[in-house]
Amino acid sequence: MQDRTSSGAPELAPATRRRVPCTSCGVCQFCPSQLLIPMILSLYNDALLDSREDAAEEYRRACLDAELGADRCSGCGLCETVCPARIPVPDRLREAHAYLTGAA
Ligand code: SF4
Ligand code: SF4
Repeated sequence: MQDRTSSGAPELAPATRRRVPCTSCGVCQFCPSQLLIPMILSLYNDALLDSREDAAEEYRRACLDAELGADRCSGCGLCETVCPARIPVPDRLREAHAYLTGAA
């Protein structure tokens, strides 16, 4: 059975979410919002595959406290145009932020 978000959209259970195939290559490190994209995606993967609590705490410490949370992504799309792994980065960042802050 699927849970539903407050918007009514189906919410994927953690086990059915897929890890993000980011290789931490760093090609996207020019983000105009200065987001630490590989770190955020890595923490999202850690939360999905290992400990959500530990990853959330690290996300808070390394990103939110520095005002570099994934919610600051402007959606400009520059990162996904260069990503060799063809990751839809802004979408995955939105998911990561929601999951790591307990909003999803
Ligand atoms: S889409 Fe978001 S994460 Fe990607 S470069 Fe633009 S602001 Fe940075
Ligand atoms: S360019 Fe793609 S694979 Fe490389 S660090 Fe950024 S999101 Fe990860």
